[in-house]
Amino acid sequence: MSVRTRFAPSPTGYLHIGGVRTALYAWLHARQQGGGFVLRIEDTDVERSTPEATTAILEGMAWLGLDWDEGPFYQMRRMDRYREVLAQMLATGTAYHCYCSREEVDAMREDQRRRGEKPRYDGRCRQRTAPREGISPVIRFRSPDCGETVVEDLIHGTVRFQNSELDDLIIARSDGTPTYNFCVVVDDWDMAITHVIRGDDHLNNTPRQMQILQALGARVPVYAHVPMILGPDKQKLSKRHGAVSVLEYREQGFLPDALLNFLARLGWSHGDQEIFTREDMVELFRIEAVNKAASAFNPEKLLWINAQHMQRLMPEGLAQHLLPYLNAVGVTESLVAAGPALPEVVALLQERSKTLVEMAAAAEMFYVAPGAGAPKDVEKHLHGQGALLAAVIQALTALPNWEAAAIHSVIQELAVTHADGKMGKVAQPLRVAVAGRAVSPPIDATLALLGKEETLARLRRAITWI
Ligand code: GLU
Repeated sequence: MSVRTRFAPSPTGYLHIGGVRTALYAWLHARQQGGGFVLRIEDTDVERSTPEATTAILEGMAWLGLDWDEGPFYQMRRMDRYREVLAQMLATGTAYHCYCSREEVDAMREDQRRRGEKPRYDGRCRQRTAPREGISPVIRFRSPDCGETVVEDLIHGTVRFQNSELDDLIIARSDGTPTYNFCVVVDDWDMAITHVIRGDDHLNNTPRQMQILQALGARVPVYAHVPMILGPDKQKLSKRHGAVSVLEYREQGFLPDALLNFLARLGWSHGDQEIFTREDMVELFRIEAVNKAASAFNPEKLLWINAQHMQRLMPEGLAQHLLPYLNAVGVTESLVAAGPALPEVVALLQERSKTLVEMAAAAEMFYVAPGAGAPKDVEKHLHGQGALLAAVIQALTALPNWEAAAIHSVIQELAVTHADGKMGKVAQPLRVAVAGRAVSPPIDATLALLGKEETLARLRRAITWI
């Protein structure tokens, strides 16, 4: 039987990194086993589900390249199917109508508490044959009274639940709508899910879901409950620590594969390897090797992994990732086409940028000349440097071959003649004049890439600002 996993988010809030990691593990397991990956939107909480959250989930998954083979299925569109299974269960007696009012159930629980027992529904409607006038019943699952339900969890190991602790679960409300655990069961069954990989906040739902599956004669899937992600302070992950929409990481300039690498490593390891390509992850990931303890989110490490991925990509590939970020800072496609080859700019910046946002900011100067309204520190840096810039222009104009090494020699010579041999004293005003800022990659390589004509044009313009 081929492996099938699913990711089943509720569109009640952001798809944040905890959810993404669960999705990633389910996706990796499916891909590694050559199986299928299903996306299911659990939108039965009508009050809290929003179309925006659904859109953000789909967009986040697409950005991360977590592609699904089937779906998205929406639970709200499967109501007829749930009703059909409810009817079957009523017919076979694995479920029954319960006419107890809330007051009755409350009183029952109160009595049990008074007797020192654990409060639970006592099954008194199990034998009822006649409806009660004027009451719309709920439907309860007839759960086994004794024995135990054992979850052989791939991450948590063997987890035992005493059936006597689990009372008859309501699987449909009095208005006929199915409840959460029931929908999950029917879906996992219909979608032939072999491995349920989900957050360990659902571990306590598992014995009930298994019991219902067994009652339906369905095959029980294998479960793997993934631990939580905590903040760096080991507290519940807060907004400040990354419990934000995954799309925010795109905004911040992270590469999708770097974010996935980071999340894969959060709770899973393979020797001491830190950097994994997507292909590495598919090959090496083992769901059984996931840690059962919660892991702490470390933003510094995410930045480091991102920088590593940026350095390892071919400049052409990285340039493709960079384009939208360049557009966002006003460097349009046509400006890029008119300027130095983007992969060469990327190659120059690759070692220096931790994010695509940083890289776009650094790349901008290659496509947009600093204007008259250049940053404040331009004036400061260029003050009294007119003669020096004129000499630079003269020397560079005379330069026959426009290459970094030759440009370097020119700067060196000018440093001797104009700045007591201090190269920085030439390089810095030159950089500010050309880039409009005090930070850039090495100036010789920067000018080489910018081209002779553009460099000289920028220098001539800068002289007019002094
Ligand atoms: N919809 C549930 C959640 O978002 C997941 C349920 C499941 O994976 O079984 O937490």
